[in-house]
Amino acid sequence: MNQLGQIQPDIISDDQDQPKGWRSFASHLFAPIKITWGQFFDLLVPLRHSPHIRRHAASVIISRIQLVAAIFAVMVPLWSIIDWFVFPWPEWAMMTTLRLGSGIIFFLLSWPWQMTKTRLQADAMLMAMLLVPPVFYILSIEITAALHVTGTALLVTKLYALMPNIVLAGLAIFPLTAFEVLVFSAPAFFFAVLGLVMGGETLSLDQHGPMIWLMVLVMGVAMFSGMSQLHYITALVNRAMIDPLTGAYTRRSGGEALDLQFRLAAMRNTALSVAFFDLDKFKSINDTFGHEEGDKALRNLADKLREGLRRGDVLVRWGGEEFVAILTDTNTEGAKITIERLRAAGFGVRPDGAPLTASIGVAERGDDNAHDWPQLIELADQRMYEAKRSGRDRAILPGDISLVFGDKPIF
Ligand code: GH3
Ligand code: MG
Ligand code: MG
Repeated sequence: MNQLGQIQPDIISDDQDQPKGWRSFASHLFAPIKITWGQFFDLLVPLRHSPHIRRHAASVIISRIQLVAAIFAVMVPLWSIIDWFVFPWPEWAMMTTLRLGSGIIFFLLSWPWQMTKTRLQADAMLMAMLLVPPVFYILSIEITAALHVTGTALLVTKLYALMPNIVLAGLAIFPLTAFEVLVFSAPAFFFAVLGLVMGGETLSLDQHGPMIWLMVLVMGVAMFSGMSQLHYITALVNRAMIDPLTGAYTRRSGGEALDLQFRLAAMRNTALSVAFFDLDKFKSINDTFGHEEGDKALRNLADKLREGLRRGDVLVRWGGEEFVAILTDTNTEGAKITIERLRAAGFGVRPDGAPLTASIGVAERGDDNAHDWPQLIELADQRMYEAKRSGRDRAILPGDISLVFGDKPIF
């Protein structure tokens, strides 16, 4: 899975290196937002979505389920008035019981429960909501099987047979990947076929082919709609969250990630370190070689840091040439090893070939007895300044541990 810190820069790049045919095809399909192969892959399967995207999509899915379920919670039981006109007594009572049962499920799904709105919750609610109409259809076949329905009653039972199609069409309002649409469509297909078999029909291509074909078509439209909604959500969330120059998280989204990680670490009583990096004498790159070269050095630095961090770690551009690495599940010792590894790989070079160095401050939740994440950042920031004052190209960690990298101080 693509973790917070590992957002690929291709999400925000213009991708002039994409094949031309693909560019024009994809840009028509998803116009006006550009799309890359990597992004298209993420619309097919939900394997690499960042937690931010997952959470955002989950929250959209849940609020739409609640809206639709609220409408159905009223409509489904109300329809028994129509049933009353068309079905005789015991069947009507059974249908009404079925309707009330479905209504209760829809009511429960529409209720604004206190939820964390995880993707798992969204998927479970969606599956529950999608299963109600086809199951209703199957049970209605059982109930009306003994009747010789004619006229309006026949019309009404035929309408029930459309339930699986309605479910497929309804999928179109959710931001889903192609794979998810396939999975969520499966029950509709299964129950549609089961309904035919239960109705005593022998399946045949010329009889039932058109119905299946229509269902596949409706599913295809739902798939396109779901993918394009997901694409828009991803593009907007990324635009708001990712720094376009470096591909790192912006300070705002980094703060959100830090807030989440801090609460998780406090709850599980696990370690959490933050490393604050400020490049040494960075301004002189701009002054001597121009802003473009400075930008290039920042991009290169972010790539280097990302390469050296674990997948679960988060890289944030805190300010101009200041970066924060959120090291999940990492104690001071682990942070020390990480910093040494990053420094050994280097932070890139200046345009004149000299190595780029940084002053680094580290804070750890447990060792620093921090009560919230701003306190953790504050401590890391103070230690970074201490590293600056004491000669740059070094790191200061909790417990006054000092890692000095260069031969001589840079003043
Ligand atoms: P030191 O931290 O070692 O004290 O020296 P410094 O020269 O790095 O000082 P400071 O951290 O205060 O300087 C930050 C400089 O970073 C100021 C600005 O010119 C540069 N900077 C900030 N953001 C960007 C950016 O997006 N692009 C470029 N090219 N430069 C930036
Ligand atoms: Mg600075
Ligand atoms: Mg600096």
